[in-house]
Amino acid sequence: MHELGIMTDVLDTALRVAEEHGGKKVTKITLKVGLMSGVIPTYVQSFFDVISKDTIAKDAEIAIEPDPAVFTCRKCGGKTVYNELGPEYVCEHCGSQALRLISGYGFQIISVGII
Ligand SMILES: [Zn+2]
Repeated sequence: MHELGIMTDVLDTALRVAEEHGGKKVTKITLKVGLMSGVIPTYVQSFFDVISKDTIAKDAEIAIEPDPAVFTCRKCGGKTVYNELGPEYVCEHCGSQALRLISGYGFQIISVGII
């Protein structure tokens, strides 16, 4: 239940933002979700709906900006971008599997919409 803990943090942050700005309702939350973050975007909205139902963030739309996985190769130094989870990750330049993940493992709140 990785998503549940994360979405609880997202909800807390959204409620704090609304409070700081005198918002009456949270309408939309935009999240950037790294491909390698372990968060499955399709579960995010349903988790959020459950935990937010007694708050002013009820019915807020969760918008997700996917963040692809970017690797650099330890052998040739080339960069490879994956937009989907794969069974394995190989350098598109030399075929090496000695890759280092440099982007796409994070999760962040981009914006919170309030009215
Ligand atoms: Zn390579």
